[in-house]
Amino acid sequence: MISNTKIVGSYIYGAGALNQLPDILEKRGSAESTRVILVDHYFMGRSVISDLSLAKNTLVFYIDTTDEPSTDRIDELHREITDKTETVSIVAGIGGGSTLDIAKAISNLITNGGKAEDYQGWDLVKKPGVYKIGIPTISGTGAETSRTCVMMNKSRNLKLGMNSEYTVFDFLVLDPELSRTVPIEQYFYTGMDTYIHCIESLNGNHRNAFADIYSNKALDLCREVFNSEDIQSNENREKLMIASYLGGCAIGNSFVGVVHPFSAGLSMVFGLHHCISNCIVMNVMDEFYPDETSEFRKFISVNNISLPEGICRDISEENYEKLYESTIVHEKPLINALGDNFRKILTSEKVREVFSRM
Ligand code: NAD
Ligand code: ZN
Repeated sequence: MISNTKIVGSYIYGAGALNQLPDILEKRGSAESTRVILVDHYFMGRSVISDLSLAKNTLVFYIDTTDEPSTDRIDELHREITDKTETVSIVAGIGGGSTLDIAKAISNLITNGGKAEDYQGWDLVKKPGVYKIGIPTISGTGAETSRTCVMMNKSRNLKLGMNSEYTVFDFLVLDPELSRTVPIEQYFYTGMDTYIHCIESLNGNHRNAFADIYSNKALDLCREVFNSEDIQSNENREKLMIASYLGGCAIGNSFVGVVHPFSAGLSMVFGLHHCISNCIVMNVMDEFYPDETSEFRKFISVNNISLPEGICRDISEENYEKLYESTIVHEKPLINALGDNFRKILTSEKVREVFSRM
């Protein structure tokens, strides 16, 4: 059974859609309140943002996405915002999965108070956040439609989101022009997140008609994009933006599988970003997803994408232990992929063997 799925309230879609942001902010927030816009640091000083005529009651914060979001960083930003204003009615995020996730978390913290880590888990957020607007500038994570916002908690060696119906965006601005400037390798790694979400969902025990329809359509679009000559053409950027949206909906109705837990291990131990970690893991998934692993290697090869190799070659015993712990902790996806007895399949030796091939 699918329980309590929530989908994004409204969206606008099309090249140039971002130009409508000032009007949207005007309509959705009261005149006396403050609108907070969080923007990926890539756009600092660029016309995409500076050309928008934003009202005076708009505060813009640039987000350094060199490292993925952490609970500490989000708490710090929350303090910075509440020191400046107590009347926030809208939080908008303009960027990739990192910025979108920070926007969702900040919106929830503004109304719920406390610290980001208080809400890491399932259904811990008590009330709706302030109005959330998501504006993706790179496609693939599905953060624009999902009900979570992923955060690293370094002290607890944990990568986990605020998984809640209140984490879903209220409004999306889907403007494929925004992903024009993404470097090709990043475009590939992030785009593959959609592919991986969907193959994991389709191979899981929680399959259902809703998730399958979203996954299959998103996979069709991914295959069209990643088998074509110019994966970043106007048409392909449009297709990938829709695929990402649908992939997020697929995961909202099901679960990921084996790739994401291993990928979370790489992120925790080596600080590698989600999407490149996923690709490193997908490349060695022959025994879990044989057909999809071959298809993935074909995408890598035809698009001349390079992947780091040998990252686990000389690692210490202590780090192997950490890799194992931060992989096996992801019970829901592992049960989805391998059943209740997943620990019998993914023994410590097995997990080590899989990592050793990366
Ligand atoms: P990102 O937000 O981490 O950004 C990656 C890089 O791309 C950054 O250097 C950024 O500056 C750059 N960039 C973004 N847009 C650009 C543009 N238009 N032009 C040039 N450069 C641009 O990228 P991501 O891969 O979308 O997000 C990864 C994050 O998403 C991780 O933190 C991951 O945990 C999270 N995630 C969340 C969900 C969810 O459901 N909430 C799902 C999967 C992943
Ligand atoms: Zn993912």
